[in-house]
Amino acid sequence: MMTIRLKLTLWYSAVVSLTLIAFSFILYTFLSYSMVQEIDRELTGRAVGVARSIKVVGANWFRQQQIVLPDVDVFGYPNTYLQVVDPYGRLVAKSSNLSHQSLPLSEDTLKRGATGQSFYEWLQVGDQKIRTYNYPLVAEHRVVGLLQVGQPFSGIQAALNRLKWLLWLLSGLMILVAATIGWWLARAALRPVEEITKTAALIRQDLNLHQRIPHRGPNDELGRLSGTLNGMLDSLETAYRELEESHAAQRRFVADVSHELKTPLTTIRGNIDLIRKMGDEHPAIRQEALADIASEAQRMSRLVSDMLVLARADAGLTLILQPLPVAQIIEQVGRQAKILAGDVHFIMNIDECCDRAFIMADPDYVKQLVLILLDNAFKFTPPAGTVELAVTCSMDGVQVLVKDTGMGIEGSESAKIFERFYRSDKSRPVGGTGLGLSIAKWIAQQHGASITVESELQKGSVFKVTFSAVSEKHGQENERACSTI
Ligand code: ADP
Repeated sequence: MMTIRLKLTLWYSAVVSLTLIAFSFILYTFLSYSMVQEIDRELTGRAVGVARSIKVVGANWFRQQQIVLPDVDVFGYPNTYLQVVDPYGRLVAKSSNLSHQSLPLSEDTLKRGATGQSFYEWLQVGDQKIRTYNYPLVAEHRVVGLLQVGQPFSGIQAALNRLKWLLWLLSGLMILVAATIGWWLARAALRPVEEITKTAALIRQDLNLHQRIPHRGPNDELGRLSGTLNGMLDSLETAYRELEESHAAQRRFVADVSHELKTPLTTIRGNIDLIRKMGDEHPAIRQEALADIASEAQRMSRLVSDMLVLARADAGLTLILQPLPVAQIIEQVGRQAKILAGDVHFIMNIDECCDRAFIMADPDYVKQLVLILLDNAFKFTPPAGTVELAVTCSMDGVQVLVKDTGMGIEGSESAKIFERFYRSDKSRPVGGTGLGLSIAKWIAQQHGASITVESELQKGSVFKVTFSAVSEKHGQENERACSTI
């Protein structure tokens, strides 16, 4: 297959060749034409000069007219042949440079001369090419002879032929030089393309997406192509890395899920065996085993519903957000949470400024987020402790705080608790799926909110979710009302 480099070179050479050939042709034609013109002008001048000095005598009715020539050599120039013939073609006079030769005279020339019209002719004498001018001599309205003036053309022709060869040679050489330069230029211009191809081949070979196309040249078309391809490689690398990470997360998730489901299933199977063996004789054991089964089943169903939320999140579920009154929503969650509080003291504090504050939110998911935080707070706080649900609204946004006086979280764990299935060793006996906070984090992200934790071991924790306030009419009034707080 023909390479682009070869094609470019061929095109380039073809254009140069055509230009050179056209130039040479025009030059050659113009030169040879002007040479002939020049000779013709000279011949005409000579002929007129000679004709003026010729005398025709004896013009009476019984005698032939006599053409009296001055010595033709008077007019002769070394390079100009002169010859005069009578109307019958008989030689009357000739210049001495013709010596024993004479200019050939055809019947045709004689006939044309007899018409009284002067004309040019090409003659071939031996190997000499001669340009002639035939000038009829007229006396008393009759053609009495023909003056032939000639100049050899062979010297000029030879020079023209040399010029022709020189032009061919030079054109050939120029075409060769142009082709070589074209080949070299095409290589230089196409080098970035080769680099792109090489890099692409390397990437395909090793699946190495770190590779980039080296481009040091200017930001021309190929520079921009390299830049665009490098940008594409950046995106590909990011996408590939994210895909790998998500695959790894998926694998971890599946492993964790199997592990988490195995424990309750083993417990359930063990209890079923126990009931089969001893259930009939020992009703108390049977009751206990059934209670175990019920609690494990409940745990499993919680696990499955949590996993369902995360699976939807992974599938790219996006929440539909609408402006919601913050105070109203939080109050509803607080009311629901009271049932979970048990012996823990629960207080709710909603800032007055929040009465007319709005956030962009999906009500169900916001409730779920706050409930997850409250559920954890109740779980990890001893009976005499306190859990507070507080909401503050300011120009910076709406902050929802869940504070507890519970067991607290170690500093090194505060980032990990948002990972799926992460549960601190101390909290294991309390139970849970380890999925709550990862769901909370996803919900916060979907709302453009941030979720953070501050905690001290044995003293308590504060989970803080910050939403941005809505810039709608109500929200602005609220900002003005509370801007002094
Ligand atoms: P779960 O509560 O089901 O175990 P989460 O994802 O909600 O799962 O929480 C992950 C871990 O974070 C918990 O196991 C616990 O170790 C820690 N944690 C969460 N909230 C609190 C809290 N209020 N106080 C102490 N530790 C907490």
